[in-house]
Amino acid sequence: MWPVKEKQRRILSGEKGAIVKDWGGKTSIALVYPNTYDIGMSNLAVHTIYKLFNDHKNIVCERAFLPNSREIAEHQRTKTPILSIETQRPLSDFDIIAFSISFQNDFLNIIPILSLCSIPHRKSERTKDHPMLIAGGCAVTINPRPVTEIFDFIFLGEVEDEIEEIAAKIPSLCKGGSGRVDREISAFSTPSDSPLQRGRRFVTEDLDDWPTQTVIYTPHTEFGNMHLIETGRGCPRKCKFCVTPHLYEPLRMRSFDALFKMVKSGLPNRKRFGLIGSDLLSHKAFFEIVNAIHELGATFSPSSLCVDEIDDEVAKLLAKSGHKSISLGVEAASDHLRTSIGKKFPSKRILEAAESLARHGICSVRLYFMIGLPGETGDDINAIAELSKKIQSAIHKAAPKSVRSTKVTLTITPFVPKPMTTFEDAEFAGEDYLKGAIKTLKKLLGKTSGIEIHAEQIVSSMCDAILSKGDEKLIGFLEKCFETNPRTAIERLLQNNM
Ligand code: SF4
Repeated sequence: MWPVKEKQRRILSGEKGAIVKDWGGKTSIALVYPNTYDIGMSNLAVHTIYKLFNDHKNIVCERAFLPNSREIAEHQRTKTPILSIETQRPLSDFDIIAFSISFQNDFLNIIPILSLCSIPHRKSERTKDHPMLIAGGCAVTINPRPVTEIFDFIFLGEVEDEIEEIAAKIPSLCKGGSGRVDREISAFSTPSDSPLQRGRRFVTEDLDDWPTQTVIYTPHTEFGNMHLIETGRGCPRKCKFCVTPHLYEPLRMRSFDALFKMVKSGLPNRKRFGLIGSDLLSHKAFFEIVNAIHELGATFSPSSLCVDEIDDEVAKLLAKSGHKSISLGVEAASDHLRTSIGKKFPSKRILEAAESLARHGICSVRLYFMIGLPGETGDDINAIAELSKKIQSAIHKAAPKSVRSTKVTLTITPFVPKPMTTFEDAEFAGEDYLKGAIKTLKKLLGKTSGIEIHAEQIVSSMCDAILSKGDEKLIGFLEKCFETNPRTAIERLLQNNM
């Protein structure tokens, strides 16, 4: 166990803001993010829940993450369980293991984590001597059914307004010793169908009451140089493929005062602020907060900007914050397909945005496109290549003479139908079609200088499609993924052999 303990101690010593509490007389909760430390610590849900639990004097909450693949082999070889970061205790020592799950594909990591901890993954096989297992997060709120056989309780929606009730009831639930059947709490449920459809998720009423920001600073994440701030929840746009507006309905935005308070609290630690929210430019306080950040001598980085709202004023602000590259969600290249998915702006507007960015020295753009969209044809795939070349050329022409190179990077993602969206019942395109589309794009663009293509693993999108809409029977699929691998599990599922 020693090398694993040492690693957790090293991580802890590099952090600022971690909370190490005495366990005496408290309910212990292991907050588990089912992916690696660098990914988990970039997720504001982890920071938020960690603080909410630890703010209670009767609760001690510590974090744990999925080891990377090399470390997993070492854990297995040495029979070392996963240990918490704060006090390096095995997860089986905790009263409760609380999974925060943001992405459907992280369902695949739950059984491996429990297996490394020698905790049976099916709730029916655990006894009252095992920790209670609970889950929350976007992924279970979108569709909890694939994991209902695993968790004792699943929390649907946003936790802030419920935390008092949860904190008050948790100790008696865990220490009652009367077995799992009696462990009930009104804020939890074990749903049998989509919480989005039935409106059974919890919603935090006033976000200004609850700051959502970086709590623990660590250099070991992609955003390690930033203080992250959530600007709001939801999106006013309602694109037909996107679950975000439904997941966070009603749309709520934090006030300037609440955002500024978070900026001031982060300033002693970081001079760069990551603004996290959908369609940030539609936030009524966007320009005010960005100007305030600049006046404080700091800079900002936006999580997402809608391409049709980018003009010279926005490009100038981005350049002032030191941006040399930016990501844009274009999704579809032909005007008719883009309109049909709810992105109602013409290609001409995308080119204007690219020119504005280039004029201010932002000459590297990452374009996000989806393939396999409902109604898509071969012409729409060809249009991705054509539009990308036009954007590359527009950037090249508008770039200041001092800029030596320009770059367009395409990230190609298969469309996955999500519950509650307009395209909920649309078909997932299938592996052969998607492979063909990627091959076409590589052929059309592969040798174009200044353009790069990255395509998401199709197997990963297939798993997402299965888990986003599947039911309780998918526990067999998750087990097969663990015993073999996702591709074999998908093949078995398609053969109806599980
Ligand atoms: S794709 Fe982006 S702009 Fe469209 S609804 Fe989703 S979050 Fe909003």
